Amino acid sequence: MSESENVMEKIVSLSKRRGFVYQGSEIYGGLAGTWDYGPLGVALKKNIENLWWKRFVLDREDMYGVDAAILMHPKVWEASGHVAGFSDPLVTCQKCKRRFRADHVGEKCPECEGSFTKAQQFNMMFKTHVGAAEDESSVSYLRPETAGGMFVNFKNIIDSFHPKLPFGMAQIGKAFRNEIAPRDFIFRVRELEQMEIEYFVRPDDWRTHFDYFFDQQMDFLKDLGLSQNKIHKIDVPAEDRAHYSKHSVDTEFDFPFGQKELLGLAYRTDHDLSAHTNASSVDLSYFDEETKERFTPHVIEPTFGLGRLFLAVLSDAYMEEDLGEEKRVFLKFKPSVAPVKAAVFPLLKNKPDLVTKAREVYQTLKQTVPQIMWDDNGNIGKRYRRQDEIGTPYCITIDFDTLGEVPENKDTVTVRDRDSGEQQRMAIADLPEFLQTKIKA
Ligand code: ATP
Repeated sequence: MSESENVMEKIVSLSKRRGFVYQGSEIYGGLAGTWDYGPLGVALKKNIENLWWKRFVLDREDMYGVDAAILMHPKVWEASGHVAGFSDPLVTCQKCKRRFRADHVGEKCPECEGSFTKAQQFNMMFKTHVGAAEDESSVSYLRPETAGGMFVNFKNIIDSFHPKLPFGMAQIGKAFRNEIAPRDFIFRVRELEQMEIEYFVRPDDWRTHFDYFFDQQMDFLKDLGLSQNKIHKIDVPAEDRAHYSKHSVDTEFDFPFGQKELLGLAYRTDHDLSAHTNASSVDLSYFDEETKERFTPHVIEPTFGLGRLFLAVLSDAYMEEDLGEEKRVFLKFKPSVAPVKAAVFPLLKNKPDLVTKAREVYQTLKQTVPQIMWDDNGNIGKRYRRQDEIGTPYCITIDFDTLGEVPENKDTVTVRDRDSGEQQRMAIADLPEFLQTKIKA
């Protein structure tokens, strides 16, 4: 087994053991391309989402959040070109009958070296029926990207808020793609989450906004604390661009299984607004009050795969430290993304005075920093190991000094740093500000 496969296996196993990510429908043998997030996974994912929403929506005046339906009128996907063009080239091995994405394999089957059939286009949208009649008239699709929900609400946003160009719409939600070969844990899945922005601009200004959003994407990756040397900018050549894009830059990341796409940035021109205007007969143009011109805005689309960001953060944080006999495994999350910011322990769980005091510290801290965990299982060493494995930056222990055994240490605790393992004594009263400062950094 190669080193990278080994690391991936350890990450998948830690994710399951500690409650980050479980295989979808696991007790039935799993359903390919689906994964379920456990309590710590949900917390990590929400932290990533919240940082994104803060940077791109809350901190700005020009962004409008929406949460559109996953099921959409089939004409949305006809007009956008997805029914005709959202497909991947599929090849089948003539010997073992396995199926692959033609652009992911060479001439021969990687499993049995058989030769492939000619590539056929395979549409990746999940088709379903809406209502009781299962015929062509009731066909609908689960959205393959969240973008569609924003284009169809463009006029609603104009009518409700009268925004001036440039402005954007932002959405976080599920999208579905019937991937030919889901793989690499949560990297390529069939049910995914995207965080997308459609930013509407004057046609002549597209380049400026495109470059600006690329920089914003990089800044967001810094918010998450990702290693800068693992991030790569890729100009996507015309033949590899999505059917709607005139210019695309992908951001790739060094995952344990190789350098792969993490984010996308596309210049979608007026492709969508014009196509929906034509197909729906509803005018999706924009009237500029200042110049008295009416035109169809162009669109810059920064798109972020939430699961891929989660995996980038998780795999980048995975650390092993050699302690001679033993190995210490810890997740070096930035405190802002860590699912648990601090764990509070009574030194001994059978000493009521320690437990009462520790409970008090826990309750107080939870009011300012909700992502706090109570842990009194096993000895301190075991608790540290457990908290290291879930990436808790600080462990706070209430000991006999806290209770006043050493008078000058009364109402102080030990705070142990995950990365260095070092401990310092700190006044209980200083803990909320200490944690808040670390989370904001
Ligand atoms: P790929 O080339 O890897 O199939 P893509 O270029 O088709 O991806 P986009 O259509 O640009 O992807 O989708 C936007 C973002 O959504 C991607 O950058 C990625 O983060 C995420 N994404 C796309 N497909 C998947 C998937 N099957 N599983 C998880 N995330 C995905």
